[in-house]
Amino acid sequence: MSKLYNKQLNYVKVICMKCIIIGAGASGVASAINIKRKYPKDDVIIIEHSDKALRKILATGNGRCNLGNQKLDISKYNHPELMGLYSFKEYIKYVESYGFKTKAIGDLIYPYSESAQTVRNQMLKEADKLGVKIHLEEDFVDYEVIKNGVRVKTNRDTYDSDKLIIATGGKSTKGLGNDGSIYEILKKHHYTIVPLHPGLVPIETKENTKLVDGLRVKANVTLLENGIKVFNEDGEVLFKKDGLSGIVIFNASNHIKNPTYNYEIVLNVLPDFNGDLKENYQQFSVKTEFLENYFSPKLVEYFSSRISDKNYIKDLQNFKFTFKDFYDFENSQITIGGISIDQVKPNFESKSEPNVHFVGEVLDMHGPCGGYNLTWAFICGQKLMS
Ligand SMILES: Cc1cc2nc3c(=O)[nH]c(=O)nc-3n(C[C@H](O)[C@H](O)[C@H](O)COP(=O)(O)OP(=O)(O)OC[C@H]3O[C@@H](n4cnc5c(N)ncnc54)[C@H](O)[C@@H]3O)c2cc1C
Repeated sequence: MSKLYNKQLNYVKVICMKCIIIGAGASGVASAINIKRKYPKDDVIIIEHSDKALRKILATGNGRCNLGNQKLDISKYNHPELMGLYSFKEYIKYVESYGFKTKAIGDLIYPYSESAQTVRNQMLKEADKLGVKIHLEEDFVDYEVIKNGVRVKTNRDTYDSDKLIIATGGKSTKGLGNDGSIYEILKKHHYTIVPLHPGLVPIETKENTKLVDGLRVKANVTLLENGIKVFNEDGEVLFKKDGLSGIVIFNASNHIKNPTYNYEIVLNVLPDFNGDLKENYQQFSVKTEFLENYFSPKLVEYFSSRISDKNYIKDLQNFKFTFKDFYDFENSQITIGGISIDQVKPNFESKSEPNVHFVGEVLDMHGPCGGYNLTWAFICGQKLMS
């Protein structure tokens, strides 16, 4: 039993309370479900400052929610060790226990309905069935570690709880609830925050790309950090008016660790330059003739202006852009950086503050596109209980 202080009404009522979770996102709701399944009698309350639980889920996977990957490679996370003994089979069994079937499209896993709304509805139904309480439009303000628990302060109340679980996500997409206010609170509690920057995000380049804004090209993309290859992947690059986008560029952006270094994004826009293409290219007397056979007119104009007349094949295979900046947090899918993992135990409890836990994107843990980040958020809920 612990006490709840209600400042507004100025009285103290005694209630049974065990666990307060901050944030009704993927990791917060997954944690609440797992705690309730293991300890059905515990009181579990989620404090969410927006007016809707699991709002971001609706935006994931273009509304389809790509929640896993058949070929998930844990070495692609920045801290693979946190994934422990990950098993794809176990993971699918676990997410399906929320009450929906899944299916694979290529390697990517989606709810069978291909609707993120299904994931949101079924998770909230399961949480409700288990008795999880969700307080919407309530803002987490601060906390204090007290004897055998944590005193949690919000803009409405002060709660005494046995455990506090911080599941506030990062700074990306403020419109979906992530205002980054958590980092100021945690700095007061002396946590080291690994520097934050937008992740899975378009890149602004020094080279002008206005002419080809909105056009796409298939390419093999290499990222060079001070001249050294740190990333390579095939994909479709989408030109923006001032830079580059597309999944392959999002994945490359996660490898730009120190924006003060020199980063170059090198496109090979002839990834299939072999066989017929290689044998026949000499029939074209000038580069524009070659380009016109393979690219749309605007791309021909753009590439022509940036490649040599003689070595145009080599130039197209080595088409360089210089990193200028990331697009902002509002345009990013995830936040890179966060609470340093050195500060948490394997069950995500803080090493410095007993009974305070961190789950999901608020920790310095991230992966590429393709279901990696939701996998991490959902799995946290399980690991908390291990
Ligand atoms: C457009 C988009 C598409 C994406 N698509 C995919 C995809 O297809 N597959 C994939 O794996 N990942 C995808 N992601 C990434 C994925 O959604 C996140 O990594 C994941 O949701 C993180 O979960 P989380 O619980 O840690 O944080 P969040 O989902 O961000 O939840 C945090 C919650 O905490 C609340 N909160 C924050 N501060 C406070 C406070 N002070 N008080 C109270 N509440 C607070 C927020 O309102 C929010 O509801 C996508 C992200 C975006 C933006």
